[in-house]
Parts: sequence; structure tokens; C-alpha cells
Amino acid sequence: MRKRALITGITGQDGSYLAEHLLDLGYEVHGFIRRVALEQPRHRLSRLLHLLDRLTLHEVNVESCASIFHMLSRHKFDECYHLAAQSFVADSFNDGFSTIATNLNGTHHMLSALRELQPKCKFYFAGSSEMFGKVQSAPQNETTQFYPRSPYGISKVTGHYLTVNYREAYGMFGCTGILFNHESPRRGFEFVTRKITHAAARIKLGLQQELRLGSLDSRRDWGHAADYVRAMQLMLQHPEPGDYVIATGQTHSVKEFCELAFDELGLDYRDYVKVDPAFKRPIEGDILVGDASKAKVLLGWTPTRSFGQLVREMVKFDLYALDPDQAYLAAYSQTAVA
Ligand code: NDP
Repeated sequence: MRKRALITGITGQDGSYLAEHLLDLGYEVHGFIRRVALEQPRHRLSRLLHLLDRLTLHEVNVESCASIFHMLSRHKFDECYHLAAQSFVADSFNDGFSTIATNLNGTHHMLSALRELQPKCKFYFAGSSEMFGKVQSAPQNETTQFYPRSPYGISKVTGHYLTVNYREAYGMFGCTGILFNHESPRRGFEFVTRKITHAAARIKLGLQQELRLGSLDSRRDWGHAADYVRAMQLMLQHPEPGDYVIATGQTHSVKEFCELAFDELGLDYRDYVKVDPAFKRPIEGDILVGDASKAKVLLGWTPTRSFGQLVREMVKFDLYALDPDQAYLAAYSQTAVA
């Protein structure tokens, strides 16, 4: 029997890589999309265009309990990957109410509907290293105390505890993946990594003069999204539900990211990158660095791409995408820029 998986947030970076991965493994893949995606498919479904004929998409907003119940009463699933969220930390400072409403209610609605209608369906919750915020010890693993420092981080800690509560109180198979930052050519343009690679490519083509960033000293544990979605699927195959840190265990600064990205295009980042306090977060988190030993031992998961490979792939993709003759090819074909 083919396994059936449901992905909320399928239009996002991780949703698109996960859909690809599950299809490759032989799954039947369904996803939730919002109404706006149907109105602007080329833009809103851009990460999925190459997969559309192999997916079943349902118009469901995770903030609507009724629409989730309606959908889950008609379609049965073996696994549910709950990725839908307002995922941009900086935005959560601008509007903490809507971040917490979407992220928390969305998770609660999904768990409640599954418990009622499909209690055997395995559930993955997209946790985040931002749950550690003001770090209590380093590197962070599954036993490190949480201390979130943003509305986004708070929403993820609460979503995690909801998942634990449904696991313990109702016996559901629920896992939280505590994923550290992961990037790719499909990363949203508001995130610093994509902002850098996109700007570097524009500067190379003479379309932009400079790039303004909040800080060059911030450090992150950056991995590749394609590696991280493999870990999500592996968590739901383990005999026991559990929570796992997924990380590379290495940090790099924004400055290093800039150096590599501009260097790939034969440019010196110091000529173009300016520090602008307007882009600083109200509170910067501490240095987050993950210890993924548990995932390595229990799931056999390890990252396969280096930091350098990640940065180069992103820069090349953005350069191709901005070149009119190559744009279509690059937007929908990873192999074109590999
Ligand atoms: P993206 O921002 O790329 O994707 C977010 C997805 O959530 C999109 O499909 C978006 O839909 C959907 N979404 C947002 N709000 C709603 C809503 N109200 N109803 C339905 N869908 C909604 O995020 P990523 O793919 O990078 O991340 C996936 C998950 O993993 C998120 O939960 C994120 O917080 C978490 N995470 C990500 C990390 C990373 O480094 N990438 C690190 C740790 C955790 P639409 O396209 O319609 O806007």
C-alpha cells in the first residue's frame, strides 16, 4: 500500500522539498494551500510548479478549525507534516499577535482534528532553534532548557508542548523536529541568506548598488533544506515518537556568508555591504549551535551538503534566475544550476 502524507505549508521552502522527497519515496502526497495561492498560482505555487501533476492540493487555512475537520473527515492519512506557520522571526516582533494566532491555533487545530478523526496518523511539528533563544548551554540538544526571545520562538515552544501533550495524554504519535536554520535557493527573499545571494547577483548584473544588513557578526548554524526534510520523514519512521535536534553543529557569521557569496561572483563584499541598524532585531538571540547526535544515532541522519556548497548553490541560482534568457529554466530546475 502506498503511504499517504499530508503537508501543511506545502508551498513554502521546506514543503516543496519535503513533497519532492516523499514522492521520490513512493508516497501519495497531499497539501494544504490558501485561497490566495489559487488566485496567483504562478507566484504562490512557484516552488511546486514542477510537481503539480503529482500532488493533490486542498484549499484549507490552518487557522480555520472547521475547514480542517471538513477535509480530514474525507481524506485519511498515514503521516501529517505540519509546517504551515508565519516563519519570519523579525515579522513576529512587528505583529506578535498574528504570529502567535497562526502558529499556535494552527497547530492546535491540526492536533485536535487528528485526535478526533485520525488518531493513528503520525504527526510532525516544525519546531525551531529559536525555541532556545537566550541559550542556557551550548551546543543545544533535546535536553537544553528553552528560553524563547521572540513571539515566533514562543509560538514554537508552545506548539511543541501541545504536541508533547497530545502524545502523552492521548497516545498520539507526535514528534517535534527542533530544526536549526536551513536555507536553499527556495528560501524566502525576506531571510538574510537569500537577501545576500539575491543582492549579490543583482549587484553583479548592475541592477543594484549596495546591500544593507543589520549585523555582520550574527552567527548561525546553517544547513541545507533538502537535507533537513529527510530528517522529518525519518522521525516518523522510528518505532517510538520523540523529539530531535537537527543541525550541522557548525556556526558561520553573516560576514562569512557575504564573503563566500560575493566571492563566487568575483566581487569583494566590503565594497557593497553596509551595516544599517534599522535592520537589527529588537533582541538578538545568542549563538545557536545544535547537537544532532540523537538524530545521528537513532535515525541515521547526517547532513550531506557543506556551508560552501549551500552558499554557492544559492548564488548561482539567483544569478540564473535574474538572467532573462535563463530565468524559466533556473526557476523550476534545480539541476540547471547544480
Ligand atoms: P516558509 O515561510 O517558506 O513557508 C511557510 C508555509 O506556511 C507556507 O506554505 C505558507 O503558505 C504557510 N502558511 C503561513 N501561514 C499560513 C496560514 N495561516 N494557513 C496556511 N498556511 C500558512 O517556511 P519554511 O518552509 O522555511 O519552514 C517550514 C516550517 O519550519 C515553518 O513552520 C517554520 O517556522 C519552521 N522552521 C523553519 C526553519 C528554517 O530555517 N527554514 C528553521 C526552523 C523551523 P503561503 O505560501 O500561502 O504563505
